[in-house]
Amino acid sequence: MSCAFDLAHYRELLDAAREGGYRFARFDSAPQAHDLFLRHDVDLSLEAALTMAELEHEAGVRATYFLMTESVFYNLDSQLGRETLARLRGLGHAVGLHAVHPQLHTDPRFDPLLAWHNPDPDFVQEPVEGVVNVMQPPWFTAGRYRSDSNQHWREGCPHDELRAGAFEWLQLLVHPEIWVYDGATMGETMRAMLDAKREEQLGYLAGDRIDLA
Ligand SMILES: [Zn+2]
Ligand SMILES: [Zn+2]
Repeated sequence: MSCAFDLAHYRELLDAAREGGYRFARFDSAPQAHDLFLRHDVDLSLEAALTMAELEHEAGVRATYFLMTESVFYNLDSQLGRETLARLRGLGHAVGLHAVHPQLHTDPRFDPLLAWHNPDPDFVQEPVEGVVNVMQPPWFTAGRYRSDSNQHWREGCPHDELRAGAFEWLQLLVHPEIWVYDGATMGETMRAMLDAKREEQLGYLAGDRIDLA
């Protein structure tokens, strides 16, 4: 199996987790044996989040999406932002806040769940009043966490271990942009995303009756 960062292999990861006997868990109770906490930090693209969310729904999988209110790349108050929030809920996913420390403006659009964006070691595991910080114990434990950050699995792609049921439980952080856009490296993938965004933005300009002739 080739461990490409594409949607075909993402689907294989989900199938491997099911074969390994994992249950798709929420961050609303302490980890139990065979829990898989499937977490998505949406840093850059609502379109990518929606694509991944639809694929997961087809696969019978529920994940937790963490969305930003301070991103320069998307706006939750736009029509697309509101539709994305509603669609993620409609597909059965949980939605938490992906906040930039120390700002924490949670509101009723979010479940009481927090994932800091690019956290520093000195606060990443600190409990936060009123919300579950998903990087605090017991949801974060060394050896039971994998992340695809920058299109690189520091400890290897987990598909074999998932299929074998090798983790007692796991928090798996997956960034949708990395899997939805094509590219053999993070740089290529980001450029593919920007190409797609350019087309999307041209569409928004046309929708705003901007003369593009
Ligand atoms: Zn793999
Ligand atoms: Zn982030």
